[in-house]
Amino acid sequence: MSSGKNRFIIKNTRKYGKGVFASKNIGKGDVIHILSGERLDIKDVVKRVLAGGELIDDPLQIGRRTYLDLDQLSRMFNHSCDPNAGVKGVSDLFALRDIGLGEEITYDYSLTIAPTEWAMRCQCGSSKCRQVIGDILSVPSKRRKEYRKMGALQIYQRRLLKEIDEERYQIPRYEIAALERLKS
Ligand SMILES: [Zn+2]
Repeated sequence: MSSGKNRFIIKNTRKYGKGVFASKNIGKGDVIHILSGERLDIKDVVKRVLAGGELIDDPLQIGRRTYLDLDQLSRMFNHSCDPNAGVKGVSDLFALRDIGLGEEITYDYSLTIAPTEWAMRCQCGSSKCRQVIGDILSVPSKRRKEYRKMGALQIYQRRLLKEIDEERYQIPRYEIAALERLKS
């Protein structure tokens, strides 16, 4: 399977299922793919997860309560704690550095997750592995600043971090309610 103007292919990672690999050299800053899918409110995300067939970590958060139910291709990109790609704007996946032919294209999922109690174990295997994939606050602040400098923050996450810095952020009630529903 080849896509994105033949910039990448899907193949087995031999570590954790399928992944996306560069099929040509990609330059630093290049947009690799616009992550896309059906727009969902957090309520609908919870409904779909409860109905089965969808995992809570599949949809990509793009706003306070807005998610994209990623299409098949968009959800193929794996997480890494030491990624070569990032997400900017609403959902533009772009190269954080030059990516060579054959390299797996990864991004840091944690940067796309607003503060929550949700977390999963990380198996990215990189030397910088944090062991868990948690929310944006699970990324050490020094590292978060590096990502910010590289432009690897979505619009809504920029606003949210500003609120956190100014100590006026609170986990919204609908987020807490959603987690309660998923736990029970
Ligand atoms: Zn990791």
